[in-house]
Amino acid sequence: MMRIPVIGGNWKMYKDLAETTSFFESFRPLVERSEHCEIVIFPPFLDLEIAVTATCGTRIQIGAQDLYWAKEGAFTGEVSGSMIRAVGCSHVIVGHSERRQYFGETNEGVLKKTLAALDSGLTPIVCMGEREKKNAKAVLTEQFRCAIGALSAGQFARIVIAYEPVWAIGTSEAATPEDAANAHQFIRGQAKGSFGAEAANNVRILYGGSVTPNDAKSLMAQSEIDGFLVGGASLDPVSFASIVNF
Ligand code: PEP
Repeated sequence: MMRIPVIGGNWKMYKDLAETTSFFESFRPLVERSEHCEIVIFPPFLDLEIAVTATCGTRIQIGAQDLYWAKEGAFTGEVSGSMIRAVGCSHVIVGHSERRQYFGETNEGVLKKTLAALDSGLTPIVCMGEREKKNAKAVLTEQFRCAIGALSAGQFARIVIAYEPVWAIGTSEAATPEDAANAHQFIRGQAKGSFGAEAANNVRILYGGSVTPNDAKSLMAQSEIDGFLVGGASLDPVSFASIVNF
């Protein structure tokens, strides 16, 4: 099976309503003919509805940057998968390293959020990645085992994985295409061990960490890399469109 690339833009805590509208006015025509990949933008919660409206009838999909695992309840400040789905989103990021670092997210929490996303009909982009290069394999093994390995085969078939080495996020130090491909191969190996060769071959693994229009093409030339999760460079419509149109 051909893996269709996914190019995601994680806006983090940037852009208000007016900036969101203006982004899509510029971005829409630039990707009108970009049929080679799925395009998903992850604005802050408050911008989701306006982003869904601004992309209605286009190939651009909208996702949230996080969710809480309960369906509803007394959880001040939290947002559930069904609320995100109801607003018209298709995807949600789970386990981003900034959530792990600043908000205490654990692998167990990532698993609960992934299950909640799937239950709500959202596609979770499950993030993993080492903080330091030297212990990459041990960290990836543990993250995979705890946060993904417990899914059923049917659930695994519906997730997308994002490999985001923390040392590459927001640092202008992207992984080399070869290093990223090796890490993806390692993660695919974990997937094979847990879910079998076919499932491992089908799962999309995105690379994230300082991707720019300059290195998108060489990274995508690696058959192991099935797209990107882009932070900083997704804030500008022209720069994100050149990544989409690598
Ligand atoms: C991210 O936060 O997911 C990310 C990859 O950020 P950046 O592209 O800015 O490194």
